[in-house]
Amino acid sequence: MDFSLQPDSPEISAFRQEVRAWLAENMKGSEHLRWSGNWSTRENAEEYKFRRALAGKLGAKRWLFPTYPVKYGGAGMSLDHQFVLETEIDKYGLSLGSVFYTLSRLVAPALMKFGTEEQKAEFLPPMMGGELAVWQVLTEPQGGSDVANCQTKAIRDGDDYIVNGQKVLVGHHLPPDFLWTFVCTNPAGKRHENLGWLYIPATLPGITIQHMHLMMGIKNAIFFDNVRVPAKYLVGGENNGWKVANSYLELEHGGGGSVAEHPLFARLIAHCQRTNFDGESLMEDQDVRDVLAEMLIDLDVQRLMGLRNFWHRYVKQPHSYGGPQFLFLQRMVRLRNAERVQKICGYDALNPDDSVHEVADFEYTVRSGPGWLHGGGTLDTDRLIIARRLGLGRPSQEDAPTTV
Ligand SMILES: Cc1cc2nc3c(=O)[nH]c(=O)nc-3n(C[C@H](O)[C@H](O)[C@H](O)COP(=O)(O)OP(=O)(O)OC[C@H]3O[C@@H](n4cnc5c(N)ncnc54)[C@H](O)[C@@H]3O)c2cc1C
Repeated sequence: MDFSLQPDSPEISAFRQEVRAWLAENMKGSEHLRWSGNWSTRENAEEYKFRRALAGKLGAKRWLFPTYPVKYGGAGMSLDHQFVLETEIDKYGLSLGSVFYTLSRLVAPALMKFGTEEQKAEFLPPMMGGELAVWQVLTEPQGGSDVANCQTKAIRDGDDYIVNGQKVLVGHHLPPDFLWTFVCTNPAGKRHENLGWLYIPATLPGITIQHMHLMMGIKNAIFFDNVRVPAKYLVGGENNGWKVANSYLELEHGGGGSVAEHPLFARLIAHCQRTNFDGESLMEDQDVRDVLAEMLIDLDVQRLMGLRNFWHRYVKQPHSYGGPQFLFLQRMVRLRNAERVQKICGYDALNPDDSVHEVADFEYTVRSGPGWLHGGGTLDTDRLIIARRLGLGRPSQEDAPTTV
C-alpha cells in the first residue's frame, strides 16, 4: 500500500514557507523547553506561559482551527493547509492541539455539530482565538467507563440549570476558563435519555476545584454546589446529551486521528548516540538497537493508523472501528515504550531530576505508561466499542458517529 503523500502544490508550498518562517520567529526563546507530557508534575509555569502565548498568536493568525469558517474565528482554509500547520508545528515537538493545553480541540467540533447559531457565534471565536483553557470534566468518583451513569444533576429552574455533583479530571494546576461537562438533566428519565451537555463558565459561584497530586501529575476534583448555570450553556438540547457524547467521545477515543510523529524516538536515538556505557556508545549495543527497532515499528504503525483516522474524519466517512483501534494501540505502545525506555536508560529513567537526563521526557514516559491505560476510558472500553462496531455477538453492527 502506498502511504506517501502528494508533493505540495505551488500554493501549499508557499504557505509551508510562510508557516516555517513564522514558527522560526515565534518559537524563539523556547529552545530549552522540552514540552514535557501535559500531565507531568515537571510541567513548569514558564512552559505553560509560552504555550498559552503561542496559542494566542496562532489564534490571532486563525491558524489554530484553519479549516473552520471565518465567521467563527477559523480561516476557511483547506485540509492541505491544516496538514502543513500540523506537520510544521510537529517539528518542534508540539501539535496544534497540545499548543494551548486545553481540550478546545475536541470541544469546538462538538459545538460546530450540536451548537445553535447563537452558541457558535458566542462560544467559538474566543476558543479559536486560543484565548481559553477548557477542561473536559466527565469522569465521576463512582466510575468513569460508564459515563451514561452520570450522577451530577442539572435541574432546570426558570432560565437556569442548578448543578450539583462531583467530577474528576486529570489535568494541570492552572485554572480553566470553562468546564465542558456531562450532567443528568432528568433523574427520573430512562438511561441515555436523561442526559445533557453543559459548557460552564468555571468562575460561577458554587464551583470548587481541589488538587490531588497523583502519579501522572496533578489531578483535580471539581465540586458543583448549587451552581446556577444559564440555560444558554446547554449544548445539543434538552435530555439530548447522549447524542453529543457519542460524537464527542468518538473524537476523544481516537476517531479524530493524528498526523503527529512522536518525538520520543528521535530523542532516545540522540540520547543513545551521546551516551557511553562500558566504553561504547549505547547505539553500538545490539540489545539497545533491537529495542529501538521494536519501538520504531510500533510508532510507525501508530502513526499510519492516526493518519488514516485523520483522513476518514475530514472526508466525513468515519472508519467503523478505527477510533478505538487506534486508541487501544496507542495505549499499548505507551506501555511498551515505558518498558523500553527503562530497559535502555536503567535507573536513570526513574529519576525525575532533569539535570540527570539529557532528555526530559524519559521519566515521564515511564511514569505515565501504565496511567495512560485509563486516560479517556480504558482498554476494556476500547475492546467493547470495537466489538460493537464489528457486530461481535450481536445481530447488527453499530455505526461510528461522524465528527467535524
Ligand atoms: C491521563 C488521564 C487523563 C484523564 N483525563 C480526563 C479528563 O480530561 N476528563 C475526565 O473527565 N476524565 C479524565 N480521566 C479519567 C478517565 O476518563 C477514567 O479514568 C476512565 O474513563 C476510566 O474510569 P475509572 O478510572 O473510573 O475506572 P472504572 O470505570 O471504574 O473502571 C475500573 C476497571 O473496570 C473495568 N471496566 C469498567 N467497566 C467495564 C465493562 N463494562 N466491561 C469490562 N471492564 C470494565 C475498566 O476497564 C477498569 O479496568 C483521565 C484519566 C487519565 C488516566
